[in-house]
Amino acid sequence: MPSPSRHRVVVIGSGVAGILTAIKLRERGITDFVVLEKADTLGGTWRDNRYPGAACDVPAHLYSYSFAPNASWTHRFATAPDLWAYFHGVAEEHGVLPHVRYRTEVADARYDAGTWHLTTTAGDQLDADVVISAVGRLHQPRYPDIAGLDDFAGPVFHSARWPADLDIAGKRVGLIGTGSSATQITAAVVGQVDRLTLFQRTAQWVWPMDNTPIPLWRKALLHLSKRYGTRYYWSLKEQIDFIGRAAKGDPAAVEARNQTVRDALGTVRDPELRAKLTPDYEIGCKRLVISGTFYDAVQQPNVDVVTTGIQQVEAGGLRTTDGELHELDVLVLATGFHADAYVRPMTVTGEDGVTLDDVWADVPMNYKSVAIPHMPDFFLINGPFSPGGSSSVLGIIETHVDYVLQLVDRVLAEDVALAPDPDRSAELLAEIRQRASQTVWGTGGCTSWYLDEDGVPLVNPVLLDELAADMATPVPEDFVVSARAGSSAG
Ligand code: NAP
Repeated sequence: MPSPSRHRVVVIGSGVAGILTAIKLRERGITDFVVLEKADTLGGTWRDNRYPGAACDVPAHLYSYSFAPNASWTHRFATAPDLWAYFHGVAEEHGVLPHVRYRTEVADARYDAGTWHLTTTAGDQLDADVVISAVGRLHQPRYPDIAGLDDFAGPVFHSARWPADLDIAGKRVGLIGTGSSATQITAAVVGQVDRLTLFQRTAQWVWPMDNTPIPLWRKALLHLSKRYGTRYYWSLKEQIDFIGRAAKGDPAAVEARNQTVRDALGTVRDPELRAKLTPDYEIGCKRLVISGTFYDAVQQPNVDVVTTGIQQVEAGGLRTTDGELHELDVLVLATGFHADAYVRPMTVTGEDGVTLDDVWADVPMNYKSVAIPHMPDFFLINGPFSPGGSSSVLGIIETHVDYVLQLVDRVLAEDVALAPDPDRSAELLAEIRQRASQTVWGTGGCTSWYLDEDGVPLVNPVLLDELAADMATPVPEDFVVSARAGSSAG
């Protein structure tokens, strides 16, 4: 067997976070690193989600790297292909592409005497001083446990696996789910399909925001004036922070948010349909759906909203518990993701044989979402208990990457291994969980991908500015420092 290739740093994942990590490593002069990517292109979410209408519901100028503003965004929200092109372009411009090793999925990571030994699903081996997991949170499709899915005669697939060549024109399409993905699909396909049947288990609160074109004058100003660009960025951030402040319980923000979403629901004219679409839990408990088109789309005459439970899928369609068969040609499962998987199914074994499953037996224990006790020099970007709500994940990952790379600087400069102190990690996490459990995510009477099995949000209720202040510089006393035996330095 060939000896493992060895790198100072291995980054896992080449989505938005992995690309950023690679750019920042190169900026620091660290070039002995590889980015491992399980697919055959980079781009993560924006590569995988290509369903009709796939777009980011955070304003595009806010969903951009702070160091790479894009004055050419055409609309308030960017589509998946445009986002993919932007992130690919930035990666290319910053010299990331030669570092990416495609079709390489890490199955196992094992720490021994200062070295991480990685094994891929193909059996290849790599060694590294530092591992940075940038695998993202919403990438492992959650398939519903519904009887008969394999019996369906037509195409059936998860929203993140939409077949590129599928023609839905004139088809009877069934759509399971009413989250952000399903609502975007609804608005995009309603004008093409014969019938759309939306199988809704739980109604959603919808924040109406139109995807307005960026006017020419604004584009021109963005091209010409950095100062204007910064002002525009902050005004968008203020709008999004407003949703975050509401989630934290700020009374004025709560009132304004609630009024806005109730008014939007009030635009549904048919009282019966409006009743179906009215959630029975508090506004903001689930992540708000942000859409200026969903309510209009769902009122079109070729749309049915079915709230009766699903019994089974059959060759010709989907049968609900009232015995009715809803005949379908295509069935879309917009049923979300295993948001609590994080790095799994990869197995990780840290110092003294302690496994990730051991450390995460009760809760995904971590230090500030970026490090794990007993896992020296193994870091996460956007790990468990990262901030939630509707803030731009770009701000979160920029904060995390800056922080993690300060730790990496120390690891490489001093040739030490750093793992967060277990007691300090537990103390900080207990405090976050306590605050999170009191937010509307925990008390609002809903289930959501924010929650763990005990119903406690896996989310830090903190605004981006607060996160950035807290993570500006690592606190040395919070880390256990050990000498590294197997360094590749030299
Ligand atoms: P999601 O919010 O988890 O929604 C999944 C939907 O599927 C829910 O309506 C859920 O119902 C339903 N469902 C799951 N299993 C079911 C079953 N067995 N039977 C019937 N219904 C079932 O997933 P998502 O829409 O993919 O969105 C996930 C997250 O991705 C979003 O919250 C957002 O953060 C992100 N996202 C963002 C954008 C964007 O524009 N930025 C776009 C898409 C997604 P219940 O509510 O009853 O569980």
